[in-house]
Amino acid sequence: MRGLGMLKGMGVTGRTMLRTLFPDGLRKPVPAPSRGAHTVQYPHVKEAPVTRARGVIGLHHDNCTVCMLCARECPDWCIYIEGHKELAPPRRPGGKPRQRAKIDRFDIDYALCMYCGICVEVCPFDALFWSPEFEYSEPRIADLLHDADRLADWMETVPEFETYEPGANVKQPKLPEPSQHRAPRGATQ
Ligand code: SF4
Ligand code: SF4
Repeated sequence: MRGLGMLKGMGVTGRTMLRTLFPDGLRKPVPAPSRGAHTVQYPHVKEAPVTRARGVIGLHHDNCTVCMLCARECPDWCIYIEGHKELAPPRRPGGKPRQRAKIDRFDIDYALCMYCGICVEVCPFDALFWSPEFEYSEPRIADLLHDADRLADWMETVPEFETYEPGANVKQPKLPEPSQHRAPRGATQ
C-alpha cells in the first residue's frame, strides 16, 4: 500500500513537472518553464500581497509607553527597547506634573524576526501595526536592524483599518492620523 501511494505521488509530481516544462502540451513540446510555472519572475513581476500580510512592523511612537511587553514576549528576543521617564505638564491647571516614558531606542532586528506577530498582538496600547510592505532586503545582514525612525516610516504603508463583521466582539484600535505617525525625539507627550 505504501508503495502504491508513493507511485501515485510520483505520478502527480511528474505530471506537474511536464505541465510546467511544456505549457503548450506534449503535442508542441517547446520548453517554456517560465510561462508554465505557478511562481512569478520576481523582481520583474510583482504580486500584490494581501492587505493584512505580515510584511513589516510599523511603530506609532505616540501610543508606545515603553512598557516592554512586546520585547518580553518576543520569542526571538529581537526587539530592543530603551527609555527614560520625564515630567509632563499636569492635565489640569494646578495639578501635579505627570511622569511619562519616552523612547530612547526601539529597534527590531528583521534578521531574527520570525513574523509570528506576537508583539503586535500583545501591545496593550496599539503602538505596533503590520504593513504588507516586504521589499526591504539588504546586502548586509546588519542593515536589517530597523531603528525607531525606520519603524515609524513604515506606518505610512499600514493599510486603512477595515471594519469588523457585524457582531464581532472586538475593541477598536486607536488608529493614528497619518500626520501623527512620529513624534519628534524628546518631544513632550
Ligand atoms: S513578529 Fe514575533 S519574532 Fe518578530 S519581533 Fe514580533 S514577536 Fe518578535
Ligand atoms: S510597542 Fe506596545 S508593548 Fe511594546 S513597549 Fe511600546 S507600548 Fe509596550
